[in-house]
Amino acid sequence: MATRAGILHLSQANLVRSSAIPSAFLSSSTSLVSIPRSLKKVSIRAMGSSASSSQRPEPVQDAEKVKFNSLSEEEWKKRLNDQQYYVTRQKGTERAFTGEYWNTKTPGIYHCVCCDTPLFESKTKFDSGTGWPSYYQPVGNNVKSKLDMSIIFMPRTEVLCAVCDAHLGHVFDDGPPPTGKRYCINSASLKLKPE
Ligand SMILES: [Zn+2]
Repeated sequence: MATRAGILHLSQANLVRSSAIPSAFLSSSTSLVSIPRSLKKVSIRAMGSSASSSQRPEPVQDAEKVKFNSLSEEEWKKRLNDQQYYVTRQKGTERAFTGEYWNTKTPGIYHCVCCDTPLFESKTKFDSGTGWPSYYQPVGNNVKSKLDMSIIFMPRTEVLCAVCDAHLGHVFDDGPPPTGKRYCINSASLKLKPE
């Protein structure tokens, strides 16, 4: 099983080989792309030595990427607490006004609780009065959306993490300027990293 440290290594490796990752993820992390050459070598060596007999980074990175995108339900259960698993992997919804971040004003970046991708910035968070953390804009293209017909006669647009497919919440068209969007997100799918 890959550890959390393994995920960090993965993202480092992704940055080394940028063609393998979504452009949005890359663009949000451009400051890390320019890490010193010596640091890149350390990262690659660590990946190679921990995962297989090959010392070349590319096959290892590909293997890690596939594994990351196809973690089993059991593996997700081990990585997440019950509420996080229920929301992100089973498309659950936390009760309003009960989540960790519905009323949080702390400046920082909200990351995916599953894969650590930056998803929302605190400066786009607004008080929607709904009891769920709400944002008018995601970070780059790091979230994706999908038609959700799980409630009959009430089509909604589901919002997912573009990297790991974690269910985050839904997006509605009654948000504030400048986008008019309201990303209604479950706290359990997020991890705030304060500035
Ligand atoms: Zn994710």
